[in-house]
Order: sequence, then C-alpha cells, then structure tokens
Amino acid sequence: MVEKKAIIGTCFNLDNSYANLSDIFFTRQNPSHVPSPKLVALNYSLIKSLGLDAKFLQSNEGVKILSGNDILEGSVPLAQAYAGHQFGHFTMLGDGRAVLIGEHITPQGERFDIQLKGSGITPYSRGGDGKAALGPMLREYIISEAMNALGIPTTRSLAVITTGESIIRESYLPGAILTRVASSHIRVGTFQFASRFGNVYELKELADYTINRHFSNVADKENKYLSLLQEVIKRQAELIAKWQLVGFIHGVMNTDNMAISGETIDYGPCAFMDVYDPATVFSSIDIQGRYAYGNQPKIAAWNLARFAETLLPLLHTNEDEALKLAQKEVSSFAELYKSSWLSGMRAKLGIFNEEAQDKLLIEDLLSMMHKHSADYTNTFSALTFDKREDNALFSSIEFNRWYELWQERLTRQPESKESSIQLMKSSNPAIIPRNHRVEEALEAAVKKGDYSVMDEFLDALSRPYAYSKKQEYYSTLPEPSNRSYRTFCGT
Ligand code: AMP
Ligand code: MG
Repeated sequence: MVEKKAIIGTCFNLDNSYANLSDIFFTRQNPSHVPSPKLVALNYSLIKSLGLDAKFLQSNEGVKILSGNDILEGSVPLAQAYAGHQFGHFTMLGDGRAVLIGEHITPQGERFDIQLKGSGITPYSRGGDGKAALGPMLREYIISEAMNALGIPTTRSLAVITTGESIIRESYLPGAILTRVASSHIRVGTFQFASRFGNVYELKELADYTINRHFSNVADKENKYLSLLQEVIKRQAELIAKWQLVGFIHGVMNTDNMAISGETIDYGPCAFMDVYDPATVFSSIDIQGRYAYGNQPKIAAWNLARFAETLLPLLHTNEDEALKLAQKEVSSFAELYKSSWLSGMRAKLGIFNEEAQDKLLIEDLLSMMHKHSADYTNTFSALTFDKREDNALFSSIEFNRWYELWQERLTRQPESKESSIQLMKSSNPAIIPRNHRVEEALEAAVKKGDYSVMDEFLDALSRPYAYSKKQEYYSTLPEPSNRSYRTFCGT
C-alpha cells in the first residue's frame, strides 16, 4: 500500500468502524493519484447538514482530499468486498472503482460513509480501470439530489472533481471522482459475500454490525436476525413504492445495488419515465426488460429472498424452521409494498380515507394513461390543478367517466376539496429530472465546461412541489424525435 501524507483539516470528522470488521470484508486501499484535480460541483446544502466547512472543501487542501490525492488524518481508506446477482447470475464483485475514506460523524452524532467513486483500481476491479467519466458522475449527482428532494431515501452527492485524466470508454472522456455520502454501503451483496465466502461467525459479525448501525431498535429482540430481515423488507417495500410513485426506474437492480439501509444506491442506467408504460426500460443492456418499471417490485422481492437466504444460519438452529421463518417474511413484502403504494397513490389523487374500491379507481386511471400514452408526471399535475388540456387521455369518453367517479369519491371523505388539492400538490411533483433536460445539463457541463445549466436545473429540482414559474420549462416533454432514450451501464 502506498503511504500518503496525512493532513489535518477542518473537514470530515472521520471514524472507521468498518475497518474494525474481520479482514475478509475489505482491503485497505488508497485512492490513486490524479494529475490535476479541479472541483466542478459542490453541494452546499449537504455540506451544511453534515456540519462541514464549504470554504475548506473549496480550498486546494480540500480538493486534494476530495480527489484522493491527500488522506485526512484519521482516515483508513478501504475498498469493500461484496458479491451479488447481476441479472440473475451470482458473481464476486466489490468496490472496483471506489474507496471508502471513512465515516463522517456529524455534530448531531449521525454516521455517514464518505466514498470516492472513480478513484482508481482496487483488488476488486476485475480488469476495469477503476475510473469514472465526468458525465455519469454528474448524472448521479443530479438524479440522487432530485431523489432526495422528492423525499426518497438515497445516497447523496457531495462533490464532483475532474481529475485532469482522459479515460477510455467508447471514446476518450474526461475522468472524474464523485464524493458519495451514504448511511452505509452495506448491500444485499455484502451479506451474499459473507454467506458464500465467510464462515458463520463472520456472517454474524456483519449482521450484528448492520443491526448496530442501522437497526438498533431490534438489538434486544429475541430473534434479532429475524427482526433485521423484517426491517430490511419493510424499508425496501417503502422505498420501491416511492420509486413507483414518481416513475423512477433504477435500471440495474442487481443484489449488489440494493442497500440494506433502504437508500437508493448506484445511479447507473437509471432514468425517470415520461409516458406511462409498465414495460419502460431505458438501460441499453437490459434486453429482456428484467428491470423494467413494472417489474421493480417483483425484482425487489427476489433480491430480498436472496438476502433472507444469507441469514438462514442465524434465524434458527433447525434448517427447516429457519427456512419457514424466512419464507414467511419474504412473502410479506408484496402486502407491505402494496399498502405503501396504495397510500401514496391515494394521496396523489387527493384521497385521505380508505375505500376498498380505491385500488380499482387507481388502476383504471393507470390503464387509461397507458392506452393513451399519457405522460406520468404531467397527468397527475394536470389533475392537481384541474387543467385537463386537449390530449388523447383527457378527451376520451372513458376518462371523463372515470373523472366523475373520482370526483364522487372525493366527496366521500370529511376533508374539503381544498385540502384534497393541497394533498395532491404535496404528492405530485411539478418537476422530475427528465432525460432530455438531464442530457442538456450534462452536455453544457461536459462539452462546454458550462455548469450554469446544471446549477439552474438542480435549483429547480430542489423544490419539486413548488410549482414555480421556473419549473414549467422542465416539465415540457421531449421532442418526438428524442423520445427513445437509452442509458448506459459503462458509467
Ligand atoms: P455498478 O454497475 O456500478 O454497480 O458496478 C458493478 C461492479 O463493477 C462493481 O463491483 C463495480 O465496482 C465494478 N466496476 C464498475 N465500473 C468499474 C471500473 N471502471 N473499473 C473497475 N470496476 C468497475
Ligand atoms: Mg453497483
């Protein structure tokens, strides 16, 4: 391991609890040196919430830390080991192009992983170059911050640095490093790694670490590992429901990309859906549509079954009993998801109370949206403001019949019409990071070095429920010629 100069700064307040786990879970690894680091994006609101110092991070010393050229005093940089099912196939993975520089403890005592993504090769690089290109790192920055503003649990993006290197992809691209902030980077794949390559003590060690870090409420439970499984399933059910409610498509829901904390992680080929269609897939490599919008809940359940399998030795001394317990929990996902999704959908339609037929009312609307190729986000904002413009959906007879039923439904609750509208306003975003607007921002930044387009966009995305004048620009749909959007994994 290359020794690096340790510097002391008013920067991260680092702890390294992960480095205290058994050796199999990580390899100590410094970030690679980069020739000429330059700060191109810095997240001031995140800096504030983490109790960091923007002036320091902007300084030469700060940029050296964010680029990995200097190591902070107290940092034990490491690459984490994990495995995972990629498109259904089990593989040994690990941080192949990222290094955890430590866990920042905020003034409020919260713990966040600080990871440099794109910081060079590690023992887990499997022939890759360990680097990241500027476009995809800015893309992760924009979309993760939009997700956060939408109230969806996610890893955050603190900064992007250009490295001064050209990296080889389909052409030469500017290299970059993203500073990613996460509750932790423990994945379903981390448990799969422990289960496959570790012994039962190491598996237990990881489970205990995870409970201590994320689910301290279950630490004293009789079967705390069963409670861990329950909690992870619950958080995932809520997370996936939130994705579906805003039309977010993760794109690569491999088990290594599912965080145990319940945060959205790994913004690769993800994108937001424009026209409502459950079969929507943007990822160029997802030929079968495994990770299509409509499949996400099913895939989450599949991933959680893989997680449950890893915990079997901890759930019960008797294998059959352990299996029964795990199966019962995994099968609870469908109901938990449905109830989260239903309550979110009710809110999107201004409904406060519950009626058995609500599901039908919602499904009818979605199926009409599908049939008439209606834009997902804009349809809900049109309903919110009762601005039913002249489009195929709103002018159809079936929709007008549905509209009457919906209006009647709204009268069967004590809340006023005004309260319903307020509920809809706070449940239906005016703005999502639409693909053509994301591309516009990236093009200006990457090709012209003009970050103003991205800054404006981020500003509009930071208040998704504001319905401001400025947001109107971002709610327009792409030209028909730009509608077959493709995303790429080679991020
Ligand atoms: P991802 O598609 O970002 O979830 O990455 C899947 C796996 O490939 C992870 O183990 C990554 O660390 C690894 N990986 C992705 N890109 C690179 C790269 N450029 N060099 C080395 N490993 C990579
Ligand atoms: Mg990944």
